Parts: sequence; C-alpha cells; structure tokens
Amino acid sequence: MNARILIVEDEAGLVMTLRDRLRKQGYTVSVARDAESALETAARHSFDLILLDLMLPGKSGLAVCEKLREGGSSTPILMLTARRQTKDKVAGLKAGGDDYLTKPFHMTELLARIEALLRRPSKMSTTAAVQYHFGNVEIDVRRTEVLRGGKVMPLSAKEFQLLQYFLEHRDATLSREELLREVWGYQELPSTRTVDVHVAWLRQKLEQDPKNPQFILTVVGFGYKFAAER
Ligand code: CA
Repeated sequence: MNARILIVEDEAGLVMTLRDRLRKQGYTVSVARDAESALETAARHSFDLILLDLMLPGKSGLAVCEKLREGGSSTPILMLTARRQTKDKVAGLKAGGDDYLTKPFHMTELLARIEALLRRPSKMSTTAAVQYHFGNVEIDVRRTEVLRGGKVMPLSAKEFQLLQYFLEHRDATLSREELLREVWGYQELPSTRTVDVHVAWLRQKLEQDPKNPQFILTVVGFGYKFAAER
C-alpha cells in the first residue's frame, strides 16, 4: 500500500503525529498548513486521499473541499472536525467530503477510515466498459464519467460508487446498512446519515426534480431503491 496522502492541518503537534503514523503505515505523506497551500499542492501533485481539517487559518477546510470539487477533483476527502454538531458534518459532506471524523479521534479509527476510503470495493474494479443511462443521464463506469444532458456532471468518488451500486442493483430495495457496508466498506457503522446525505446530493445532481425523484427512490422505513425505467 503506497497511497499518497495529503494532510491539511495547522496544528503542528497533530501534523507530526499524523505524518509519522501514516508513514509508518507505508503511505507517502505531504503536508499543507493552510487552505491556500492545500489548493496549490493538490493542483501540482496527485493524491489518493486528502485528510482535511475544517478549522484552518484563513479560508476554512469547507472552502478547500468545495474548490477541489469545483475543479473536478474526485480524490476521496476525509474531513477532520473539532465540532460535534451534526449540521457541520452535513455541511462537510455537502461540500463534497466523503467522510468525516470528529476530534479527538483514535488513531486506529482514523486508519480504518482511510483504508475504507482507499479501498475500492472489488466488484467495482471492473475493467469492462460498462455504460448505463437513465433519463438524460449517461454513465461510463470505466471512465468514471457522468453526463447529464450531454454535459459532464462532476461526482465525488463516493457519489460515483454509490450511484454505481444503485445501477448494479436496479429495482432492489437497499438498506442504509448494506449501502454503508458495500459502498463505504464499513463493518462498524458510524452513522447511516452519511448515506442520506450522499443520496440527497446525487438527487441534486441527477434528478430533474430532486424533491420528487424519479429514479433514486426512498423506501420508507427501510432504505433506498433505484427504479429502472418503465
Ligand atoms: Ca486546525
């Protein structure tokens, strides 16, 4: 495992701890201490994962995340937040983060989350040129490209994997737990809210009327279902 990780954090002590531990795990580690240098570094080098603290001097981590996603980056982003409020976590996911961890955290938990984000579920590592379409949306799995009305629609890595899982299980009712396990790779479930936020985001991007979805349907009391076209 020689994945490249960018740590974006300004607390010197935490940076040192994280860097040492991640290097010990065999990761290649770079560090940025504020939003500006994070964006610069991310533009110059490619990373397999970004560990992003939300509280930074100057621009916040949320702004960094939004900028990266606007620029078309689909690098998995794990957010670190000192705040406990759910609304901040939701804001983080809405800004395009793939997961979040509240400080203080256990190093083992951080490492597990990192591994989960880096691991692409095996059934998704297909090399066949698989294409799907629904409504005015076209998906090219091999190129991880989504077009809506002929225009590229940028999705984060997790959004794409979630969409792909839906497409591979059309018409099946999928529980939040199954989605967390299969798409996020979690054995221990942090919060099924993660699934809801990503579903909401996919609807925003892909449904004609996100409030009355035609494809990504809620199955009340159970989970979600991707409806095949009739
Ligand atoms: Ca900080």
